[in-house]
Amino acid sequence: MARLLLDHVSKRYGDFHAVRDVTLEVADGEFVVLLGPSGCGKTTTLRMIAGFITPTAGSVHLGESDVTTLPPWKRNAGLVFQSYALFPHLSVAQNVAFGLEMRRLGKADIAARVAEALRLVRLEHLAGRLPRQLSGGQQQRVALARALAIRPDILLLDEPLSNLDAKLRQEVRVEIRELQRQLGLTTVMVTHDQEEALTMADRLVVMNEGAVRQIGSQRDLYERPADRFVAGFVGRGTFLEGRIEGPGRFRTEGGLVVRCADGAAGSAVLALRPERLEIAAMPLAGVDNSLPGKVEFVSYLGAASDVHVRLSPSDRVIVQIANRGDGFTPEIGATVHIGWSAAAARLFPAGSVGHDA
Ligand code: ATP
Repeated sequence: MARLLLDHVSKRYGDFHAVRDVTLEVADGEFVVLLGPSGCGKTTTLRMIAGFITPTAGSVHLGESDVTTLPPWKRNAGLVFQSYALFPHLSVAQNVAFGLEMRRLGKADIAARVAEALRLVRLEHLAGRLPRQLSGGQQQRVALARALAIRPDILLLDEPLSNLDAKLRQEVRVEIRELQRQLGLTTVMVTHDQEEALTMADRLVVMNEGAVRQIGSQRDLYERPADRFVAGFVGRGTFLEGRIEGPGRFRTEGGLVVRCADGAAGSAVLALRPERLEIAAMPLAGVDNSLPGKVEFVSYLGAASDVHVRLSPSDRVIVQIANRGDGFTPEIGATVHIGWSAAAARLFPAGSVGHDA
C-alpha cells in the first residue's frame, strides 16, 4: 500500500476556487475521511487523487511517484462511488473481473483474484447473479470487490453508503472498516455524514469552501475545534454571541455575564457542548457559572434527552441529560439552573464561520 501526499493542491474553475491549497498526508494503511457540507470541495479533492481532475496548482504523490498528471488508469486506485456503477448485463464475477481484464491479466490469475475479492466481501455464493438480482447492500459489496480485485495502492470511496438504508449503512460501514484494516489499505473516503465519518476514520479532514479547516482525530475535532465552523459541524453545541469584556469575563448579546477562559477583549462567540452543562432545580454550587433559566423544550432521545433552556431573551442553550431513570427530569416551563466551568466552554473570534452549521 502507498502513502498519499497532496501538496498545496488547488482546483479553479475560472475565478471560482473549488479547492484551495489543500495539503494532506495519508499514511500507509490509514483511513482518512474528507468531511464537509455540500459543495465544500470533497469530491473534487477525491477526483484529483483518482486522476479524473487535474489540479490547477500543486501536486499529488502516491508512494514515491508524482502522479499529478497521470490518467486514472495509470494510477493503481480502487474506486467505489455512490452509484454502484455495475454493468447490468454482466454477472457479479464478470463485473469484478472487468478491471483485471482491462489490465490484461491471465485467465487463471483473474479467476483467482475474482474469487479472492468475492470471498473478502462474502459474496462467493452469488458470483453468477446479475446486479439486478442483488440487494443494494450486495451491489455495493460487488463494487467494493471490484475495487479490491485490482489490489489497489489506495482505496477511494465517494459517499459509498448513501444509497443504502440506515440499518444497512451501519452494517456495511463496519464491514468496510474491518476489511480495510485487515488488508492494511490506505483509504480516503468522502462523506457529508458526520456520524459515518466519526465511526470510520482514523483521521478526519474537515473542509469548507474549498479549504481545509482542520485535520485531526475525532477527539481533536470535538474537544479542540480549530474554529467555530468546525465546532458547529462536528458534534452539536450552543453558540452564544457576545464580547470578552475583561480577563475571564464574557457578556452575551442578551446581557448575561459569565466567567470564561482568558481571551483577547472584543467580539467573540462562546461555544458550549450540551453534555458539558449541568442542570438542576437549585443554583449550582462550586461551578464558575450558575444561571437561572426556563425550560422551553425537551426532546427525548432514548439514552439521553435534550433540554432547551432560555437564559435571556436572546440566549438559549441545549443541555443533554443522561436518562438513567434516577436523575432530575425537567418539565417544560420549569425554572432550572444551568452550570458550567469556564474551562468547559470554548471561545472563538466572532465572524469566523464561513458557512454556519
Ligand atoms: P457534495 O457533497 O454536494 O458532493 P462536494 O464537497 O463534494 O459536495 P465538489 O463536488 O467537490 O463538492 O464541488 C466543489 C465546488 O466546485 C462546488 O461549488 C461545485 O459547484 C464546484 N464545481 C465542481 N465541478 C465544477 C465544474 N466542472 N465547473 C465549475 N464548478 C464546479
